[in-house]
Amino acid sequence: MWLPRFRRFRTSDMEDLSHRYLGVLRKRYRLSPDAVSNAPMVELWPEIGEGGRDLDEILEEVASKASGQPLLLNHYWNVLLGHLMEVVDPAFAANVAVFIGEVPDGRFNAMTTGSGRRHLVLVQRGLELFLYRMAFIVVASMRWRLGEPGEGEVVVEPQIDMASAAAEVHANLALLGTGRHRMPPEFPPGPARRFAPFLAYAMQQFVIAHELGHIVQALWRRQPAKTERESTMIARAARLPVPAWREEAICDMFAADLCERLVPASAARFELPEALVRRFVVEAPHIVFLFMQALEAAALLRGRGASTHPPVTERSSILIEHQCAHGLSPEESGRVAERCLHVAELAGSAWR
Ligand SMILES: [Zn+2]
Repeated sequence: MWLPRFRRFRTSDMEDLSHRYLGVLRKRYRLSPDAVSNAPMVELWPEIGEGGRDLDEILEEVASKASGQPLLLNHYWNVLLGHLMEVVDPAFAANVAVFIGEVPDGRFNAMTTGSGRRHLVLVQRGLELFLYRMAFIVVASMRWRLGEPGEGEVVVEPQIDMASAAAEVHANLALLGTGRHRMPPEFPPGPARRFAPFLAYAMQQFVIAHELGHIVQALWRRQPAKTERESTMIARAARLPVPAWREEAICDMFAADLCERLVPASAARFELPEALVRRFVVEAPHIVFLFMQALEAAALLRGRGASTHPPVTERSSILIEHQCAHGLSPEESGRVAERCLHVAELAGSAWR
């Protein structure tokens, strides 16, 4: 990844971004700084299993702060951003300050604002829990083939039927715009409990990595030297008819590359085989596109603005082309297509 030369990133940059974020909450959403908490979301935190804090202590802290107050500055996104910053180009991590926080706004899923070295990533409130729950529903409604094809292969039948799964997706979609939460369905031990937390993590990471893609492209504009891989991404995206879609498609390709670099660390974090983690990481963006499209359709129905993202078919086909050019086998891309059909049925039937 090419990056311009910067002055060294200072701690005061991050303080300034944090200050700006509070300003956004105050001015745009009429929220006072004391309504903001840096507590992790308890539903998600135990799945990561790190952070050096006792879970009881976290639960107590959340309970004391949550009494009627909105939890907006979600520490979970900061943890996820931290993991991504470990694998970005070292020059980017050292010189660009990125601050991430939640806002109660249904007009976008995630957006980036800022310039030069300082950027603020704003994520729609509740999006992490929405993706977490969708991951459970996707995994529980799928037929799993685990192990090598042939004698060692284990086939696990779906834990819930498609109609119940689609109803659950619908209920979550309807609630997200209201800022209210719906607890995930309970699943007995099986693929959902074992794999869904990681699929959720992979989808959430992709959302943030996509936003980092916007920051990197803002930097490209200031000094247009590119690597061959970057030039190829730009050429591939140039096929899209709407200029705004091209930047989004480049963000998707950039994000997929970045998330792939996280695979070894993620396999260790979640104690899952690297091959399985890679499979989720490859599929996660395509699943995100489908759910984002459903969310955007829900926002449009409530009279909110149209998206800058390309339609899901364009987004997925550009990304899969990029993934195939960089090592995805025909068998793997077939699996992505199979997963897309499955999720399209879940997200699509929610609107019937
Ligand atoms: Zn974007």
